Amino acid sequence: DAYLAAIDAANPTVNAYVAVTHDQARDMARASDARLGKGEAGALEGIPLGVKDLFATKGVHMQACSHVLDGFKPTYESTVTANLWADGAVMLGKLNMDEFAMGSSNETSYYGAVKNPWRATGEADDRVPGGSSGGSAAAVAAQICAGATATDTGGSIRQPAAFTGTVGIKPTYGRCSRWGVAAYASSLDQAGPITRDVRDAAIMLRSMASYDEKDTTSADVAVPDYEAALGQSVKGMKIGIPREYRVDDMPEEIEALWQKGIAWLKDAGAEIVDISLPHTKYALPAYYIVAPAEASSNLARYDGVRYGLRVPGKDIAEMYENTRAAGFGTEVKRRILIGTYVLSAGYYDAYYLKAQKVRTLIRRDFEQCFDAGVDAILAPITPSAAFKIGDKALKADPVKMYLNDVFSVTLNMAGLPGISVPAGLSAEGLPLGLQLIGRPFEEETLFKAAHAIE
Ligand code: GLN
Repeated sequence: DAYLAAIDAANPTVNAYVAVTHDQARDMARASDARLGKGEAGALEGIPLGVKDLFATKGVHMQACSHVLDGFKPTYESTVTANLWADGAVMLGKLNMDEFAMGSSNETSYYGAVKNPWRATGEADDRVPGGSSGGSAAAVAAQICAGATATDTGGSIRQPAAFTGTVGIKPTYGRCSRWGVAAYASSLDQAGPITRDVRDAAIMLRSMASYDEKDTTSADVAVPDYEAALGQSVKGMKIGIPREYRVDDMPEEIEALWQKGIAWLKDAGAEIVDISLPHTKYALPAYYIVAPAEASSNLARYDGVRYGLRVPGKDIAEMYENTRAAGFGTEVKRRILIGTYVLSAGYYDAYYLKAQKVRTLIRRDFEQCFDAGVDAILAPITPSAAFKIGDKALKADPVKMYLNDVFSVTLNMAGLPGISVPAGLSAEGLPLGLQLIGRPFEEETLFKAAHAIE
């Protein structure tokens, strides 16, 4: 009740929730109380969570914040949310996001922009919470949920976490089931939590993760007790500092933050080593080929026949056209056009195939460092603090917006886990985060090191 009241009070301003499931939340909480009464508490018993609108929640609004899914209520539950409810968590509602998870500012949502609960010192302008999981991050920061599910295809958990002073972990590809999560780019998409601190992230990820035969890319790897890793010493841990992340126009305060993170880990006993990831500079352009290519294919199913919106036409072809023209926003259409182009005969080899090869090179860069004994890599996660809602330069040039993802997309291309942890404030008083990148299925190492920074 306290959380629902807090949502009702804050959401008209923050716009983090696109649906609040009052009745369901109370029913779930009552069932939780009953279990507690019988001494049957699950790992998340009674914990009120928000769910990114990309996750299917049975009988409950699910639109991926797109007009094209108007009125869609799935008849099934995503594996990740089913895992959370099985552990006793309570659903508060569905959280705002960039349409189909395409964006870095949450401004592409059909439901409008989300406001970052943080403002610059002495300033009235609203900032973005980052994207695409902007609603998840803002809701956690505004304390209108105890934690939230999110997804990260190219930074969408870590960047919004950094912009809102929260913690976000993108686990190893295959760690959380993608079943019941609307697909953006299937070979990159991964679910993970956004929470107030590292401990909450460790607890929540353990519940979210599972092997699932309904997702053919799900990994049959045991899920450890991540919380047990917290507080363990980082002494002797080898932390790599990738020189290619020191980009030319890196703002001084981001460089300073990175140095601070290095010093903290060093003081805690970690060994700091310089490493090279030579193909880093190709990650962003390759990502913006692979992701739209897969998106253009995944979004073909929204045709007015099976789900949501239908805009009639004189025949079925015109009905498809009218539905898709009205249903998708500008950014989604741009991705579909780019994706269709790079997959078309004549351009496939030049773009898509080449991007896939670059992807292998990026993965090998990381593998070489890990083979050389590096346990985790420390790097910035965003090139700046949260920018203003409606930033004209970013609106005018989509590539400028894509450049925000320069530090985040590399690990998705390699399938690796990464955590974003709050590490300080910008000169303007806005939160800044650092990211740690780890070996496949070694999220514990990230929790351990992030806990030392936090
Ligand atoms: N900003 C990136 C994009 O728009 C990442 C999105 C995501 O991780 N879902 O593709």
